[in-house]
Amino acid sequence: MDQMLPMMPNNSRRMGWLLALPKVGIVLLLIALLTFLWLLNRNEAEQERAALIKDVLWLEQNLRFNLSRNEEQLQQLAADLSNRPDPEKIFRLRAAHQLKNNSEISQIIWFDKNRKVVDALPTTRPPDDEIEAFGPLVTEKAFELASRLGKVIYSQPFFLEGNQAFIEVMVPIFAERQLIGMLAAVYPLDQFLAKLVPWWFTEKYRVIITDDNDIQYATKSNIEGDRNQSYEVPFDPPGYGMTLRITNYKDTDNSLQRLLTLVIIMIAAATLWSLWLVRDLIKKRSQAEEALRAEHAFRTAMENSLTVGMRARDLDGRIIYVNPAFCKMTGFQSIDLVGKTPPMPYWVPEQIDETYALHAAVLAGKAPRDGFEITFQRHNGERFNALIYEARLIDGKGQHTGWMASVLDVTERKRAEELARQQQEQLQFTARLVTLGEMASTLAHELNQPLSAIASYNAGCLNLLESPNGQTQDIRPALEKISIQAQRAGKIIRRVHDFVRKSEPKRAPCSFAEVLEDCLGFTEADARKQRIRIACEIPPLPLIPADRLMLEQVLLNLIRNGMEAMANIAVADRLLCISIALGKSEMRVSVSDQGCGISPDIQGKLFTAFFTTKPEGMGVGLSICRSIIEFHRGRLWVEENPRSTSGSGTIFVFTLPLETE
Ligand code: ADP
Repeated sequence: MDQMLPMMPNNSRRMGWLLALPKVGIVLLLIALLTFLWLLNRNEAEQERAALIKDVLWLEQNLRFNLSRNEEQLQQLAADLSNRPDPEKIFRLRAAHQLKNNSEISQIIWFDKNRKVVDALPTTRPPDDEIEAFGPLVTEKAFELASRLGKVIYSQPFFLEGNQAFIEVMVPIFAERQLIGMLAAVYPLDQFLAKLVPWWFTEKYRVIITDDNDIQYATKSNIEGDRNQSYEVPFDPPGYGMTLRITNYKDTDNSLQRLLTLVIIMIAAATLWSLWLVRDLIKKRSQAEEALRAEHAFRTAMENSLTVGMRARDLDGRIIYVNPAFCKMTGFQSIDLVGKTPPMPYWVPEQIDETYALHAAVLAGKAPRDGFEITFQRHNGERFNALIYEARLIDGKGQHTGWMASVLDVTERKRAEELARQQQEQLQFTARLVTLGEMASTLAHELNQPLSAIASYNAGCLNLLESPNGQTQDIRPALEKISIQAQRAGKIIRRVHDFVRKSEPKRAPCSFAEVLEDCLGFTEADARKQRIRIACEIPPLPLIPADRLMLEQVLLNLIRNGMEAMANIAVADRLLCISIALGKSEMRVSVSDQGCGISPDIQGKLFTAFFTTKPEGMGVGLSICRSIIEFHRGRLWVEENPRSTSGSGTIFVFTLPLETE
């Protein structure tokens, strides 16, 4: 885990970079696409402009061609008028012909050299006022210039009839180098454009004749819409600063292009948005991964620090997992164990059958719920006691996939328990010796009685033998009494011997009445001395499974404690009661005294070892009593004596089961 934590910022930085890359890519792609579209647009505009210029130049040339052809025809007419007979007729004929073929010309006028109209077509009678109205200044100037220079001259444009613009072309008529007249062709500029600009041109462009002052003289177009780009060329002839301005219209069909651009932008936005979502997802995922990694590291750390061995087996009994503690316990490597089927390498060879039986019980789900003990063998051959708890192994789907065992090495614990047991035994033994030591003077006194009786009977016998009239049969009763007293002394010695005998605790059928009798045998002398009465209420008792010596120790301890408690009370109250109640499954023994009683503050400490209130006490008696009673699966407790005549007193109660479980 420690190693992983510093890696986390690095990882997230790398992730940030990785996530930023597609975004940058998409932005760049968008820029490239938009640039491409812009370039395409520009290219198209350039192409449009090139086409416009080409068309404009073509139109200009076409107009120039028409104008110069008309000039030529007028010049031809002028020549014919000067040198052919019957000029009026020729004028009529030719002018009509020209007007018919060149509809851009609205009128052809024939002047004499003084600018008097000789004839005009289509107006048969040339009205002076009309010529006047033609813009005298403009036409006059052109007339003069043409007559002076002797060549074709165009007039400046002029407006007539409101807003209709016209130009005139003056062609001088010479006869033998003398100006004799002038031919003028009138071009209404609107008509000029209408006739000379072809239809297809006007489908694409708008044609305007204008000048430097932006005065619009004529225009022609068949379409309407947004203007795009325009191009101007000088309208020469006639000149006078007039220009042809051609404007094209935006291709209305670029909506597709616009749609395409919109779609591209929308796709890019959608991609960016989806990337944002993906980024969010990845972020969440990497957070989950991080949490998982931390969890995993934590689990590994936990697993490594576990001191309990863990072993998982599948339903066939094959080992599928062992933790480090188990490996350490058995001394085998994980790879040596995982995949193994019985017999396992840590099984004890001599106990292979029992271990197999246990193994089968576990697989059948019959393993003891509160665990079982087994001996295992380490890799180095050393044996150890293992306490095993088996549990079902349930996977994530709730399926039972095998068995999980927690294995505890209890060798040390068992050793400690054994040591404690031995120490306890030693303590019990010591306590018995101490009790006996305490009773030594009483016992000596007790033993002294039969011995002195024997001695006196013996002396009596000797006296009888020495007396001359002594009869042998007189000795018999004395000898019988000696024997009784010797038996009594022997009984006392045997009891002492039995009491201090050191033996392994074992429960065998024993009579509680005999236990009680032995105890009373030990204590009655003392009781007599202390003037304590001992009362017993004993119903007929069955044999109980118990260690006789141990029970004697308990009872003796309780009797002696009761007697000691009554040392300082009135003699009349010195009564010790031993009563036994027989239950269904247990018997209940109470030892009650009328002694000093037990104050509540020391009641909790009574059964702890080495607690005593007596100057010479050892304080181990009650603690040994409780462990002996518990060894017999019984209970020992203390109560107050409610029936005490002295006002205080204690009852020690213990139970003993009647049958072995
Ligand atoms: P010891 O007798 O050596 O003190 P025990 O474990 O037998 O050790 O008793 C512990 C203490 O319990 C005694 O010192 C005494 O204070 C108290 N005790 C035991 N039995 C009685 C009793 N019958 N009445 C009053 N106190 C008692």
